[in-house]
Parts: sequence; structure tokens; C-alpha cells
Amino acid sequence: MKTIRLYQKDVYLKSCTANIVSISEYGGKKIVVLDKTIFFPTGGGQSCDLGTISIDNQYWDVVDVYEYNDEICHLVEPHIPVDGKGIDGEHADGGGANLEPGIEVTLAIDWSRRFDNMQRHCGEHIMSGMFFREYGGVNRGFHMGDDYMTIDIDLSGTGYDRVTWDMAKHVEFCTNVAIWENLPVVTTHYGTRSEAEKEPLRKALAIDKDITIVRIGSAENPSDAVACCGTHPATSGQVGMVKIYKVEPNKGMTRIYLEAGQRAFKRYQEEFDVLSSISDKLSSGTNDLLDKYAAKEDKIQQSKDKLYNMEKKLLNLESQSIIRSLTASPSGGFTSFTYSDYDADFLQSLGKLISKTCSAAFVLIQPELLTCIMFSDGKSIDCGKIVKEQGLPLGGKGGGGKNFARITFSNLDQMNAFKNAYDQ
Ligand SMILES: [Zn+2]
Repeated sequence: MKTIRLYQKDVYLKSCTANIVSISEYGGKKIVVLDKTIFFPTGGGQSCDLGTISIDNQYWDVVDVYEYNDEICHLVEPHIPVDGKGIDGEHADGGGANLEPGIEVTLAIDWSRRFDNMQRHCGEHIMSGMFFREYGGVNRGFHMGDDYMTIDIDLSGTGYDRVTWDMAKHVEFCTNVAIWENLPVVTTHYGTRSEAEKEPLRKALAIDKDITIVRIGSAENPSDAVACCGTHPATSGQVGMVKIYKVEPNKGMTRIYLEAGQRAFKRYQEEFDVLSSISDKLSSGTNDLLDKYAAKEDKIQQSKDKLYNMEKKLLNLESQSIIRSLTASPSGGFTSFTYSDYDADFLQSLGKLISKTCSAAFVLIQPELLTCIMFSDGKSIDCGKIVKEQGLPLGGKGGGGKNFARITFSNLDQMNAFKNAYDQ
């Protein structure tokens, strides 16, 4: 028996009574089929309604709704009261009401979820219609997920390669204009394809009969007209607003990331807060934020340049000091130098600078980082071999070649054992 879809006649119906037609079980959950329903099943890119089915304040949560052979199936599980309170805020009863064919139950949908879906879905309609009207772009893919919503715009044969950011901003503006105009959203059912094709459709029909067309605005100048079985608000104004966040190439088309309604507004609030915090940190308003940021970047670059020059001078001074020491008292093995003030990368640069003019073997040690960096001329002493054969077995991590090797230990005992080993 085909379920009567009350949401098709009145999308604002939030609760109603219905009779159970059949009950079955799936994965420990009950599947309830009713003679009529206000629950929209997942389909056409729109997710299903959630809510409750109840009998005398005993509730079942509707956790999924889908269509199967003209029937709408409600997957339900017993409602678990939160903080000792039931759905109505008073009764603590959970599920357990006996669901049997023939009995009357009360249905209630999660209206905030439904309205969110309606705003997003209708926002997507209008924007797709505007891409078509302004650039001839066709929406060939739609995703409405929990985290984001996308449409894939195909510009084949229009003379445009892709949707640029400026084109996206133009369509975004046109879409919001259509929202401000508070246009009627008209849903009409047609028995045949030829009847439905009298509508100013933006997309060819994929079915031949029982076609529902959603048109936003007049037939002469529609903001959108397309076959759709989803739920839509009665006027475009209820979409509230739309905002595009990103455009990117996708399989020869352009993927548009957008949000609509309360989600777009919430995101605007969140992002404005972020912008305000950054503005406060830079002592600017949001209007001169980019100038202040550019000035800050310049200052950072100047500091980096200054630091680079100072580091170069320091490397020269330290390298000369080490070369003097190595030349004054040559040894057959490694001579160690310990530095706590410099990081390992600085020591590596220092060693490489020394190696350019000095063939003696030496080790630069960063004790806090438990790192040893070894250098030699590679002829009599193979740094990489020492690290591999004496350092790695002690638990160190690193490697290198004949002239240079680096190893880091996880504790001081390991590093001291390594120093004893290469000193011998
Ligand atoms: Zn729709």
C-alpha cells in the first residue's frame, strides 16, 4: 500500500496521527510502515527527517526513514530518557509502547532539522538556477552533508572554461537577490513528461510520468525550475541567505562549496569572531586588516633578514674559534665541542663551514637535544659507519655518510655510552 505523503501537501506539518500498517524487524530495530506520514525519506540529495513515534507519552525515536516499494519505512528504536525526562519534558517513559498493526500513533518530526534541510536544499536550487541563468552552467552533482554542501557546475558548451571566483560571487549575489524578493516556491505534479516540459526547466527530465516540478518565481523569469521530490519552504525568503566559500576544479567541472540559511548565518558569526580577534591582535579594524597584516609581514621579513646576517657572523666567529682549537691540538680521533645555546641545525651549519677548511675530525654536541653531529675528511674515519655500528645499537636514531653524520638519543646514558665508544 502506497504511504500517503503528507509533507507533499503541507511541508509545515510538524506532527500528526497515523495508523500502523505493518511492523517488521531489522538489525534489532523495528521498521514501522504507516498509512500516512510527515517523515520525508532520504532521497534526491536531501537527508531524511528524524523525530518520534509515540503512544500515550511512550516514545520511539525515528532514526532512519527510507522509501521501499512505494512504502515509507520508519526505522525506530526505543527512546532513552535524558536526565530522567521524556521528550515532553515531564514523563520519563522511554520506548516500550506496543507497536502493532492497526493502532494509532502520534508522529512528530525534528522541525529544526527539517527546516535546516529545507533552507539548504532550496538555497541550492536557487543557486543552481542562477548559474544556469547567468552562465548556462548545469548542476550535475549535489552533496548535502553534515559538514558542508557542494554543487558541481558543468560549463561545457557555454564558452566558459570554469567558474571563476568573480563569477561565483556574481551568482552568489543574484541568489541572495532572489531570496530577498521572497519569491513563491511552487510545487506542481504532472502526469506526463510533455505536460511537465511546459515548465521553464533548467535540466532535462529523467523520468516520463508522475513528475513533480519545483519552480521558484514566475514561469516567465524563474529563479529555478527543476524536477524534485524534496521539501521546500513556501517562499524563497525563508532560505535567509546563501554564501559561497570555495570554488575548485573537479572532473572537468567546478565544485562550489556553499551554505544556506541558519548555517550560513552561524558560519558568518563564527568567522566574524575570528576576524575580530585577529583585528584586535593587530590593533586594526576589519577594513584595514590586510594592510596591517602586510606591514606585519614586512616587519617579520626584516627581522628574519637581520637574524640571517647575525647568524652568518656568529657562524664565522664560532668556526674560527673551533678551527684554532683543532689546529692547536690535533688528535688522531674526534675532538668534541659542546654547545647548549645553539640548536642542532645551527651546529650542523657550523660543522659544514668548518669542514670546508679543516680536515680534522670533530663532533658537535647539543646536550639538551641529546644530539651528536660528526664531521671528518672521510678518509681515515667514516662518520656514517660509526653512527650505524656504535650509535644505532645503543638506541640512537640517525645516519649519514663518510664526511658527516648525525644521531639523536633518547637519554643521556645512551649518548654518554656513544661518546665513550667513539673516543676510544
Ligand atoms: Zn528540491
